[in-house]
Amino acid sequence: MTTTLRVLDHALLRHKLAPLRDAATPSPAFRRRLAEVGAMLAVEATRQLPETTARIATPLAAMAHRVLAAPEPCLVPVLRAGLGLLEGARLILPDAPVGHIGLVRDEATLRPSEYVLRLPPDLKRRGALLLDPMLATGGSAAAAVARLKAAGAPWIRLLCVVAAPEGAARLAAEHPDVPVLAAALDERLDHRGYIVPGLGDAGDRCFGTEG
Ligand code: URA
Repeated sequence: MTTTLRVLDHALLRHKLAPLRDAATPSPAFRRRLAEVGAMLAVEATRQLPETTARIATPLAAMAHRVLAAPEPCLVPVLRAGLGLLEGARLILPDAPVGHIGLVRDEATLRPSEYVLRLPPDLKRRGALLLDPMLATGGSAAAAVARLKAAGAPWIRLLCVVAAPEGAARLAAEHPDVPVLAAALDERLDHRGYIVPGLGDAGDRCFGTEG
C-alpha cells in the first residue's frame, strides 16, 4: 500500500510522547506536552516551505538572507483536541491565521458530523496545516481535508500525534496528495475506534473532562 504517512524519527518527540501516553499524567502536564509536540510537528511540516531572498542589514553589515516566499500557512485545528496542538504551533507560526473545524464523532457509526466551520478568507494564498492529534479511523481527518480543499487550500499537511494503520490507509486512499506527519504509528483500533495503545481521549485529557 502506498502511504502518505511519515513518522518523525526524533528522540525528543518520543520523550514527550511518553507522558502523553501515561494514564497517570494530569491534564495540565498533558496539555503542556501536547503543545510542545505541536511546536515540533509544525517545525517539521514547514521545513521545505518555498523561500526567497531578502536584503537585510545586521548591526555590522548588509547581507542577503533567505526568508519565506509566501505568508505563513493557516493553522486549522480540528476541535476539540486539535486546540492542544495549536498552542505550540502558534509559537512557531505567530502570524498564521487560525481556522476552526468542529467535527463530532457519532459513537455508534464512528462517522464525523460537522458543527462548526470558520476558515480564514486568504486560505487560498496560504495553504494549511491541519491539526488533529489522533488519526484513528481517519473519518474526521478525511472530512476536514475535504472541507479545506473545497475552500480552496492550495496545499494541506496533516499533523497528528498518534496514527492508527486504518486511519493512515484511509487518508492515503482518499487524499493521496496530503502528507501526514505523526509522532507515532500504533498497532490498531479497538471496537470503539480508539487507538491502541494510544493515549486515550486526547480532547478529554487536554481539557480535563475525562469521565
Ligand atoms: N480520538 C481520541 O481522542 N483518541 C483515540 O484513541 C481515537 C480518537
